[in-house]
Amino acid sequence: MTDDFFQPVSGITLARYAGVPTFMRLPHLPPGHPRRAEVDVGLIGMPWDGGTSNRPGARHGPRALRDASTMIREMNRATGVEPFKAMNIADLGDAAMSPVGQDGALAALTDTIRAAVGDGIRPLSVGGDHLCTLAVLRALGGPPPGLVLLDSHTDLFPPYFGGAALTHGNPFRQAAAEGLIDPARSTMIGMRGTAYGTDDFDHADELGIRIVTTDRMLQDGLADTAALARERAGQGPVYLSFDIDFVDPAFAPGTGTPEVGGPTSQQALTVLRALAGLDLVGADLVEVSPPFDTGGITSWLGASVLFELLCLMAPQGRSFKVA
Ligand code: MN
Ligand code: MN
Repeated sequence: MTDDFFQPVSGITLARYAGVPTFMRLPHLPPGHPRRAEVDVGLIGMPWDGGTSNRPGARHGPRALRDASTMIREMNRATGVEPFKAMNIADLGDAAMSPVGQDGALAALTDTIRAAVGDGIRPLSVGGDHLCTLAVLRALGGPPPGLVLLDSHTDLFPPYFGGAALTHGNPFRQAAAEGLIDPARSTMIGMRGTAYGTDDFDHADELGIRIVTTDRMLQDGLADTAALARERAGQGPVYLSFDIDFVDPAFAPGTGTPEVGGPTSQQALTVLRALAGLDLVGADLVEVSPPFDTGGITSWLGASVLFELLCLMAPQGRSFKVA
């Protein structure tokens, strides 16, 4: 049992719609807070969508997800994991990312994550668009982690718009070029939809990243797909990135680049639970765009995904096995 200080405010003592919203109703520990050194996992907002190539709005994701996450309770009924008892988890606030200019915003995020990692905190980062993940990977240090990506896109596309532009369509192409991920231990799950061509899949092959399309995942089964990703990742460090557009837009309409024909929210949660056992050095949820959401359903799902990610980061979660 962790210190009471790090327990979420219970919905039994204060109504869930009341109070100042933080992620999961956890304490807010901005930089300089005296208890930062006690934090095991830190939720960090990345309110930025300057890499978006289509519909914007993910900059509003962290605030909407703080609000939606006030519904999250303490125990994972499916797995029995209780992350808030297993680890000290806190809301570390948002990175100060300028909406104007890309390099400065990404550098500010890298600095924010690096400071947390320097305090011994594993980051669970909340976007924001997917280019934010590149800035997070730049901050992790240590040996390059294997990547497990849940996304309807590879985000391995060549630079857009005739230049060297970084967008949310190519963070992992850039991350691989910078040596920030270990392709041989990386798996990308959920790809579907129309394409410009085969360039991104070809690039994955060249790098040695395994791609599991949505069709392949549903044919092979959710548990076997997760087992493949776990097997490829092995015992080394892993980074897990969840783009909300992995899920069918019927369940997650509030996102920039939706692709129909995807898994249900239930299937997405099942895949996440089946990934238990990864040695996660960090994780993120990205691409929730509240202005395109309907009735808050994308944010509800996003908050639930964040909770599953916390469970995977808990020591208990590492040993849980799907029956
Ligand atoms: Mn993405
Ligand atoms: Mn995507």
